[in-house]
Amino acid sequence: MSEVQRETMEYDVVIVGAGPAGLSAAIRLKQLDPDMEVVVLEKGSEVGAHILSGAVLDPCGLDALIPDWKEKGAPLNVPVKEDNFYMLGEAGKLRVPNFPMPPLMNNHGNYIVSMGNVCRWMAEQAEELGVEIFPGMACSELVYGDNGDIKGVVAGEFGLNPDGTQGPGYEPGMELHGKYVFLSEGVRGSLSKEVIEKYGLSDGKEPQKFGLGMKEIWEIDPAKHKEGTVTHTMGWPLGGNAGGGSFIYHFENNQVLIGFVVHLNYKNPHLFPYMEFQRFKHHPMVAELLEGGKRVAYGARAISEGGYQSMPQMVAPGVALLGCSVGMVNVPRIKGNHNAMLSGKAAAEAAHAAIKAGRSGDELHDYEEAVRKGPIGKDLKKVRNVKPLWSKYGLVASLGLGGFDMWTNTFGFSLLGTLKHGKTDAQSTEMASQHKPIDYPKPDGKLSFDRLTNVSFSMTNHEESQPAHLKLKDPNVPVLDNLPKYAGPSSRYCPAGVYEFVEEEGKDTRFVINFQNCVHCKTCDIKDPSQNIVWTTPQGGDGPNYPNM
Ligand SMILES: Cc1cc2nc3c(=O)[nH]c(=O)nc-3n(C[C@H](O)[C@H](O)[C@H](O)COP(=O)(O)OP(=O)(O)OC[C@H]3O[C@@H](n4cnc5c(N)ncnc54)[C@H](O)[C@@H]3O)c2cc1C
Repeated sequence: MSEVQRETMEYDVVIVGAGPAGLSAAIRLKQLDPDMEVVVLEKGSEVGAHILSGAVLDPCGLDALIPDWKEKGAPLNVPVKEDNFYMLGEAGKLRVPNFPMPPLMNNHGNYIVSMGNVCRWMAEQAEELGVEIFPGMACSELVYGDNGDIKGVVAGEFGLNPDGTQGPGYEPGMELHGKYVFLSEGVRGSLSKEVIEKYGLSDGKEPQKFGLGMKEIWEIDPAKHKEGTVTHTMGWPLGGNAGGGSFIYHFENNQVLIGFVVHLNYKNPHLFPYMEFQRFKHHPMVAELLEGGKRVAYGARAISEGGYQSMPQMVAPGVALLGCSVGMVNVPRIKGNHNAMLSGKAAAEAAHAAIKAGRSGDELHDYEEAVRKGPIGKDLKKVRNVKPLWSKYGLVASLGLGGFDMWTNTFGFSLLGTLKHGKTDAQSTEMASQHKPIDYPKPDGKLSFDRLTNVSFSMTNHEESQPAHLKLKDPNVPVLDNLPKYAGPSSRYCPAGVYEFVEEEGKDTRFVINFQNCVHCKTCDIKDPSQNIVWTTPQGGDGPNYPNM
């Protein structure tokens, strides 16, 4: 494809991804200099279409970026009023009191929001300042300069045939060049992954860790709805099979945002994260809340969990990685949006100063320093041992030890130093023969649903006449290796039912990729034990169409 001729557009800063990180960077650049030429490219059909985190937002990022966000009508309408934490058994629950929790776990002053709607509002603010935002534009390639620097991206290539040749309506897309390129693709960004590998940015760091987050929005009986209530649970149904837990947020309009996170370092390849989520809703505490209500939306997305010790170097020549492209989630708080916003602001300030000094295409070290030494680094450093403790000692021990470590860190020290994560999530998967299959109850169609029915509630759509965007490095590995060794785990870890092993009498087993169902969560790229599946961008506008997740 190298002979393809493309139009080129020149900007000061090219930003990939209209999430909280990318939009914050765009807004800050224009606040600093209204003449700065800034473009934001988003693969979703509109801003917010691929944003899943129905969220408790710590407003510190927005406070720093747009101090008068309230007057400007930001959709932060539901302050947190009540914070609950339960350990679940199969039928019972144990309330964990709030007082032993370190202050950082307190949700007082935070808001329950639709991050999709917050991003839509941020995009309006950016456009008012003169930022160009192009949704429906997937950035599929990096453009390298002569000196090995990154000078831009290719966006908006459409009309390839399934075999990768140019179809009748082929459009080559454009090259967008910038003095600096910001990658704010969120967790496991495809271009970010290329940059991290090419420049060895993770060398000497701990591997990045991930969870799979699945979420449904329910409209429930108004009599049961308690706007502003935040509930987190741990324990059943995962038990000792995997780390993770649930969140239940009572949002506005009788809506409840109910989600479940499974840490992707689980060992037993028979585990079925999606079915764990469905089973969770049958716990009496949850079933009672949802009964009589209706599920109105579904989605899934990976969440970064490696934290402080897993953040790669964030800059390379011409490029900076923002937000969850490097993984800025505070795991015990399950919060990353505030850090994504703060990172966007910091990257913009570093790029603005560099451009004013006549620089371009070099490494924005001031940005990296601002992240590591500023509020983001401080936020993540305090909780850096929670995830490794959980992985090593399980839930109960990690609650005590992790809680103690967070308390001492609140006072500026840790007796544990900085613990390591060790293996990647793919490497954590063990042979199927070492583990027992897990028997999951069938969804009842009222509280629990099969995957394909739920995927239809994510409004996911992919043009079928394009190459599958989920690529196999070796097409033989799924059937010849993953199936016998790991019982074909992709058929279970994918929350959208993309992967299937089809067995027909008299025929060899076939591996089928239903890429049309993909909700862009990136779990396959992370968890495949052979690291044989590579997530690439489909054509722009494809993927989920989340309304207000
Ligand atoms: C289930 C779940 C619950 C969560 N709950 C909370 C919470 O309660 N509070 C909280 O603060 N955080 C929460 N988080 C974490 C939070 O979602 C992330 O920290 C945050 O989204 C990171 O922001 P970002 O801008 O880096 O990336 P994202 O929000 O992921 O945005 C990235 C954007 O870039 C676009 N994009 C990606 N690649 C390309 C490409 N190549 N070309 C064009 N566009 C591209 C995507 O479509 C997307 O719009 C949760 C996460 C999950 C998964």
